[in-house]
Amino acid sequence: MRLKSGSTFVLSNHTEILEALVGLKDVRVLAFERRGPHVSLVIEQTPDEVFCPSCHTRAHVKERPVISYVDLPVYGSAMTLSWKKHRMRCVNSACSVGSWVLGDHRIAAKNCLLTTWAATWATRQVGGGRTVSEVAKELSCDWHTVNDAVATYGGALLEADRKRLSVTSAIGLDETSFVTRVGHAHPRYATTVCDVEHHQIIEILPWRNYVDVAACVNQQPQSWKERIVYGAFDMSPAYAAVYAVALPQAAQVVDPYHVISLANRALDAVRRRVQREQLGHRGRRDDPLYRVRRVLLMGEEKLDEHAAQRLRSLLELGDPDGEVAISYRIEERLRDFYRSRDPDEARTMLRELLKHCLSRAMPPEIQKLGQTIETWFDKVCNFHVARVSNGPTEALNNLIKRIKRVGFGFRNFANYRIRVLLYAGKPNWRVLGSSVVR
Ligand SMILES: [Zn+2]
Repeated sequence: MRLKSGSTFVLSNHTEILEALVGLKDVRVLAFERRGPHVSLVIEQTPDEVFCPSCHTRAHVKERPVISYVDLPVYGSAMTLSWKKHRMRCVNSACSVGSWVLGDHRIAAKNCLLTTWAATWATRQVGGGRTVSEVAKELSCDWHTVNDAVATYGGALLEADRKRLSVTSAIGLDETSFVTRVGHAHPRYATTVCDVEHHQIIEILPWRNYVDVAACVNQQPQSWKERIVYGAFDMSPAYAAVYAVALPQAAQVVDPYHVISLANRALDAVRRRVQREQLGHRGRRDDPLYRVRRVLLMGEEKLDEHAAQRLRSLLELGDPDGEVAISYRIEERLRDFYRSRDPDEARTMLRELLKHCLSRAMPPEIQKLGQTIETWFDKVCNFHVARVSNGPTEALNNLIKRIKRVGFGFRNFANYRIRVLLYAGKPNWRVLGSSVVR
């Protein structure tokens, strides 16, 4: 091996390290240069005879362009891999193929400015929750270079790792917004498809309407569709229709998380109304009902004796007709319903509770809650048979929100999908090591 002199020093006695950096037998290291903090490794490949891809005539070397790729840092220094490539040309005058540059996916994928090692590493980092800008900073390159590499390699991993799609017997459909560009008034909505059995997001669809989501579920292999026993959702009629049409054998399960948050919203609406009626204004810091707003939304079992006593006395002050107190009780009974371990007993409990909710003596907000739950009664009760919950999807949605907060929102659905699936989809990372990204 011959080493050319770099501008400041040559590592001529470290050829083994250099070879290990590239690790490919048919690659020659031409030089190793250091300019200030920047290290550059110059390589070339020694191709065998090359033939024209079209007419199969033996091709000639036209020129030797040097293309630079961002590589993993060496000993803390940013590193560039300068690849002295071969631009070939077809010598057959009757052939329309002009010239082409030889590539090698083991060194770098086509149109990717990161080496394969750096791109694989960056994809894992971003998949683990680091931001693209952090990774770009570590590689001393710009945001787009890393983002494009993550899209290329992450996309290839998700495409190759099909197994994660086909292990579940219970899915959940959930709506998420995905564009949070600052000042952008209209977020776009996507549907998260979750494996609620193994708590991972398996796909993200760029729609939330019945027609597109149903068409997409319907396109899945028959064996996949037959395996789905439960379909969890958030009481949206669109998703109920998707299940009814595309997965008719799956039992529909309304997610407890959504029922409890609906009850929370009803309770909060009662509290705000009573407060306005009592004091003639919106909640202020010292108003009794304003002071209990957070405690009210906690389960009773989470309150210690002091907190429970405080809640009682503040309600006495701010809630003379007991409307907030009764709404709080209703929500507690709803939690009891979910705590029950016996499907029949739970069903009776919910039936009784709805009878109370729908009574005309109840605050209107609670009557409305009762009507909604009644509409979905069987599917709400199905939780006690299925014991699956979209709750994990909610947890994963929180992760999505975290990703979205970092840097800026996703303008591009494809980027959003890849980033979320790498982060919350539990892909099999070994597949990335073994798949070929060209
Ligand atoms: Zn040719």
